[in-house]
Amino acid sequence: MRAIDIHTHPVFFRSGYSAAEADRLAAGASALGVRHMICLGDVLVYGPRPNEKQVRTINDQTAQLLRWRPDYFTGFCGLNPVLGERAVQREVERCAALGFKGIKLEISNNAREACMKPVMHAAARFGLPVLQHTWSMTHIRQRHMHSDPEDTALLARRFPNVRIIMAHLTGCGYRGILEAKGIDNLVVDTSGGYPEAGLLDFALEHLGADHIVYGSDLPIRETSVTLNRILGTKMSTTEREKILYGNTARLLQLAP
Ligand SMILES: [Zn+2]
Repeated sequence: MRAIDIHTHPVFFRSGYSAAEADRLAAGASALGVRHMICLGDVLVYGPRPNEKQVRTINDQTAQLLRWRPDYFTGFCGLNPVLGERAVQREVERCAALGFKGIKLEISNNAREACMKPVMHAAARFGLPVLQHTWSMTHIRQRHMHSDPEDTALLARRFPNVRIIMAHLTGCGYRGILEAKGIDNLVVDTSGGYPEAGLLDFALEHLGADHIVYGSDLPIRETSVTLNRILGTKMSTTEREKILYGNTARLLQLAP
């Protein structure tokens, strides 16, 4: 069994920021079959709307992880779309030069807002997929900053030339899966919350294995639990290989 984890935060509220801690995290996941990790940064350490300097600091910490363990870590850069076109362009350019392979968007704004346009143009220009924090807002009711599956699906439809990763299968739920259905440039990651019986089966039925990627949200969730959500669901060997490894390897052009 081999896996790539597309949704991790090795640096989380300032913990994990040393080469030794990064090595420990990598060793723990490696022992369970995770061959590679996508680092999304310490995205909420300065609150939902970091300023330009804070965004740079978050991304510099991720870049440091990539320098320590380029064999194990791939980085996505965090952005605050609300800072506007110039700030977004500057940071995406800087991060692309540092070797980042995607963009991570958190809860600075809702994905249907106009400030997303420059982000998506930058993503298209550098060929970077966008991982959008997504959670069903029917109970939380913070849609001015969080993106509901409906919003992330709309984003993917508006920008068909950008590949979108809709984060948090559990947080999106059954309704979120139906929102994501039939969108070619969208995949859903399996992070967010503990495994729920039947949900991944429903995603397989409606989205197909080509549109599901394994993610954990490590260190908020454990690798053993998040992996077993995939391993404990009935599917073919081919489907399992795609979800755990193949889809992300192809999406980010990672060498086997
Ligand atoms: Zn996360």
